Amino acid sequence: MKIGILGGGQLARMIALAGYPLGLDFIILDPSEDAGAIGLGEHLHGQYDDQNLLAELAEKADIVTYEFENVPVKVAEFLAEHTTVFPAPNALAVAQDRLHEKGFLQQLNIPTATYASIESLTELENAMEHIEYPAILKSRRMGYDGKGQVVIKSKNQLAEAWESMQNAESIVEGFVPFQREISIIAARRPSGEVVFYPISENTHEKGILRVSECRVGDVIQSQAEDYVVRLLDALDYVGVIALELFDVDGKLIANEFAPRVHNSGHWSIEGSETSQFENHLRAILDLPLGATKARGFSGMVNFIGGLPASDNILDTENVHLHLYAKELRKGRKVAHVTVREDDRDTYFQTLEYLIDLAKLTDNS
Ligand code: AMP
Repeated sequence: MKIGILGGGQLARMIALAGYPLGLDFIILDPSEDAGAIGLGEHLHGQYDDQNLLAELAEKADIVTYEFENVPVKVAEFLAEHTTVFPAPNALAVAQDRLHEKGFLQQLNIPTATYASIESLTELENAMEHIEYPAILKSRRMGYDGKGQVVIKSKNQLAEAWESMQNAESIVEGFVPFQREISIIAARRPSGEVVFYPISENTHEKGILRVSECRVGDVIQSQAEDYVVRLLDALDYVGVIALELFDVDGKLIANEFAPRVHNSGHWSIEGSETSQFENHLRAILDLPLGATKARGFSGMVNFIGGLPASDNILDTENVHLHLYAKELRKGRKVAHVTVREDDRDTYFQTLEYLIDLAKLTDNS
């Protein structure tokens, strides 16, 4: 069985690594010559809209999936005419456009921040008559890791904020005064069977995810499951999905969802009976989904732009290093580490040590 992946970065790499024990082969379309997953499967080297390569991918792959949500919807639709594509292109279409996404969530009675569509300074000024400061202006498309967004603290920053968007179709959102950011990762099979992971509690800096911790038995688990299952069913979704939420006094407010495996679920490789990557493959292959039960305490720390010597990580008990085989570059996620521990105190001590290591080498 051959799985096609659009995108050859670290997520594709970890999908492929999870697929080998299941006897799967991979074919990966990526424009870069040295993306992290290259070498783990046949590489189709070219642009995502190259018709010849897409035809070859459709012919060779039994099922196509993707590792990033900015795959052009037309590309996914073309592939879906010739082979099986999971998650289906409709999930991409919603997730790629923040305005569409927020509207979709609200239709499902999943709360979001107050928001408005913005295409001009006048629209921004009018919208801010009804939204409290501070607010965040975000481009509707192609934003990730806090890129394409600007915080607006007061009325006199409106013109500057709009100018910085360079006329991109945008949305403005009220700032959510959250206590913590969490995400829930779930997998759904074509039959509608769903498994949920324990929620992740996430720490971002400069819009980039730094730390994700598995929180077993959290009070908001069932609320998060309720919201994500609404989304999965409405999209008739197949594969792994991640829904990012803000926790405000125990009430969850959705920020966005990713129709793919997610950085906040990397702890599941060691911290769960079945990783998110394996469950994504099981879901798209319509195989029984694996148990998502946590193995003790686990958490993940990202390394951004820089890396400590591997020895400093590998000589720490119950810590696992995942290098992405990428060139070190400012702002780029180049590796992550996971700590998986049975003992609570040791878990927190080790996590702190890893966070300090990541800070020392940070180049974000
Ligand atoms: P996003 O690109 O939408 O995932 O935003 C990146 C990060 O910015 C989030 O993880 C939050 O830390 C922060 N953020 C985004 N939108 C809001 C909001 N409406 N209120 C508060 N913080 C936000």
